[in-house]
This record gives sequence, structure tokens and C-alpha cells, in this order.
Amino acid sequence: MLYVGCHLSASAGNLEMVKTAESIGANTFAFFTRNPRGSKAKEQDPEDCALAVKALQEKGFGKLVAHGAYTMNLCTAEAGARAFAADVLCDDLRRMAALPGNYYNFHPGSHVGQGMDTGICQICDALKKALAPGYPVTVLLETMAGKGSEVGGRFEELKAIMDGVGSDNIGVCLDTCHVSDAGYDIVHDLDGVLAEFDRVVGLDKLKALHLNDSKNPFGSHKDRHEVIGSGSLGVETFHNVVNHPVLKNLPMILETPQELPGYAKEIALLRSLEK
Ligand code: FE
Ligand code: FE
Ligand code: ZN
Repeated sequence: MLYVGCHLSASAGNLEMVKTAESIGANTFAFFTRNPRGSKAKEQDPEDCALAVKALQEKGFGKLVAHGAYTMNLCTAEAGARAFAADVLCDDLRRMAALPGNYYNFHPGSHVGQGMDTGICQICDALKKALAPGYPVTVLLETMAGKGSEVGGRFEELKAIMDGVGSDNIGVCLDTCHVSDAGYDIVHDLDGVLAEFDRVVGLDKLKALHLNDSKNPFGSHKDRHEVIGSGSLGVETFHNVVNHPVLKNLPMILETPQELPGYAKEIALLRSLEK
């Protein structure tokens, strides 16, 4: 049984997301911990969190994959803005502790001309401050398309962050659109890409997937998501992903341009591909 779901609106609370997910055939989901294009976070309701934790367990959901705000850039050049981003990360992880055992994924950052090494150091500094040992949340670095000065378009960059942080509570979320755009050929050589991931990072660190088709060709460094089967990856690629022994038990999150009915169809499609 696959753990598959999509991005849901967090505005009605955590328990409501569990119910919505169930109504569209999902058994995991993603949500933004705060306004994805701003930084405001809603006040947390401990009772809602507790009810959601109970419901997730009763319904047999897989791990959730929360998503940090796009605006949180841990390696932005200006020191004040960088400190603000680091505070947002700390607050997000504190909030995630109310939903223990789940994942918190984020875009590592954009070094905005400071250079890859400086960017990686700054990301490590923020993560080292935010991640206390034994904290009940695993942070996931998302594989990026390598657009502009993005950190995380190469597996080596993710590995450098993980080595710099030196925590067990850190893994990787692989985004199918992003890795293809970044120049990893999952269409023709999924096994080869996973072997490369294993060589550089280690497959034991791969914790979740973002399932998106891509509007752009292989190696375009663009990052525009497409509906499953309508982009350059194609249904066959997703057939290979959902049946791959290394991938099939990971939480799979759709981030395609869809509303709920479209997501319900995509979830059903992915389930139908499972052998
Ligand atoms: Fe993302
Ligand atoms: Fe993604
Ligand atoms: Zn993306």
C-alpha cells in the first residue's frame, strides 16, 4: 500500500486536513507551516494537534511531510534577514513538535551570489542552532532544480549540508520535477540516479518524495511542476517510481497544479500503477 497524498490548506486546522486527505484517497499529506510566500504563522491549537495525531494513527497514515515557507532563505546575504530566517526555522521545528514523528521539508536556500560554499555554511549554522538532539521531527532537505543560485541542485550540496550539521535528524526529500530539471535522468535511468544518490548521500537518508511531472525538458534548471503524465517525465516514470523497491514505502506528495478533485484523480492514478 502506497503512502500518497498532496499539499493541503492548513487554514482549517490539522484534524480537518486529515479528514480532507481521507476524502480524496490520501494517506499522507503536506501542508505549509506558515504562509508560503510570507512568514506569518497561525496560532497553534494543542487540542487540534492532539486530535490530529490520534486520527493519523487510527487511520494508518504514513508520515506527513510539512513544508517550510518559500521565503525562508537561510543563506540570504543580509545578516538581519538571515537571522530572521533562522528564527522562522526554529519556530517551525518547535511547532512540528506538536505533531511528533513527522517530517519537515524545506528548500535549502539561495546563496544570492555569495557562493555555494558560503551558502552551505550559513544553512548549516541555522540548522545546528535549530536542531536539538532527540527533537521529535526529522528535517528534510529538498532536492532542487538548480535554478539561479539555489543550493541543493546537486546531491553533493545536500551531502555537504548534512555533514556540516552532523545530526541524525536530517534527511532528503526527492522532488521528481526538480531532479529531472537539475539533470538527473530519472526517465531513462532511475536506477542509475538512485545509485548516484546512494554513492553521494546514502539511500538510508532518502525519506520522502515529491511527485511532480515537469513542464520543462531534462536539465532545464527551471522548476515548473506539471500534472502527472502531462509533462516531460510521463506516466511510465511514475510507474517506475511507485514500484521501485527503494521508493515504494516512502511518503509521496503531489505538488502538481491541481485542486482537490484533480488531486483525487492523480492519487487514484498512482494507486492504479502499483503492481
Ligand atoms: Fe518544495
Ligand atoms: Fe517539491
Ligand atoms: Zn518545485
